[in-house]
Amino acid sequence: MTRRRWIADRWNETTATLTGAQAAHLARVLRAQPGVEADVVAGGRVFHAVVETVAPEEVCFRLGEETEAAPALPVTLMMSIYKFDRMEWAIEKATEMGVSTIAPVIAQRTEKHLAQSATKRVERWRRIAHEAAQQSRRVEVPEILAPVPLATYVKAAHESTRIVLAEQERQHSLRRAIEAALEDSGEELPRIELAIGPEGGWSPAEETLFAEQGWKAVTLGPRILRAETAAITALAVAAAWME
Ligand code: SAM
Repeated sequence: MTRRRWIADRWNETTATLTGAQAAHLARVLRAQPGVEADVVAGGRVFHAVVETVAPEEVCFRLGEETEAAPALPVTLMMSIYKFDRMEWAIEKATEMGVSTIAPVIAQRTEKHLAQSATKRVERWRRIAHEAAQQSRRVEVPEILAPVPLATYVKAAHESTRIVLAEQERQHSLRRAIEAALEDSGEELPRIELAIGPEGGWSPAEETLFAEQGWKAVTLGPRILRAETAAITALAVAAAWME
């Protein structure tokens, strides 16, 4: 039977502790008792562990043998902010697929009310990523950055291959762009950034900005995909080449 996996809130060499919602769930819902075995992630490493003490606000584990841990994909997903329920679905799926960082941005066609309430929503996105990381047995929770205007993110310098998913692009495919990045990076896996537009797509000014800042425009094929479908498809292509 697969052991449940928990991501520790505090840890040291020999013990790990869950607090907050995780501890309450383990104590009150799962009614865990001392002696129960589980996998615990502490500092990006996974350990077999045994419950030592249980209280609704805090559950403490004794750490045992360390086990295999699959690293995250070296991929940052730059997501234009759009309808929250569908964006949150994409955050959950991107986490399951191994993304290392999610950068929410305010694009020109991001609805004003969503742009205004995005900052208040970040904690909820981080909770969704935490739960999805645990459910998909990851060893780290992807970082969710604070929302910024698109131009701020696109102009910022980054040591990575920068790829924009462009619904108007017809020539260059994502597969080819990732292949080229792998060839250029030799032994090391390349760091890749994937930019996904809002429901309304990129504005001509944004397409120009991407080109000026050295982002490579690629297509995911002839059909126009919803933003969340494009995000998942792009990550699947990246994972297929990089894992
Ligand atoms: N409103 C735009 C239109 O009708 O042309 C469609 C925008 S699409 C719903 C949202 C985002 O998903 C796009 O900005 C792009 O980043 C990505 N996307 C969707 N389909 C794509 C494709 N076939 N190739 C590349 N990117 C795509």
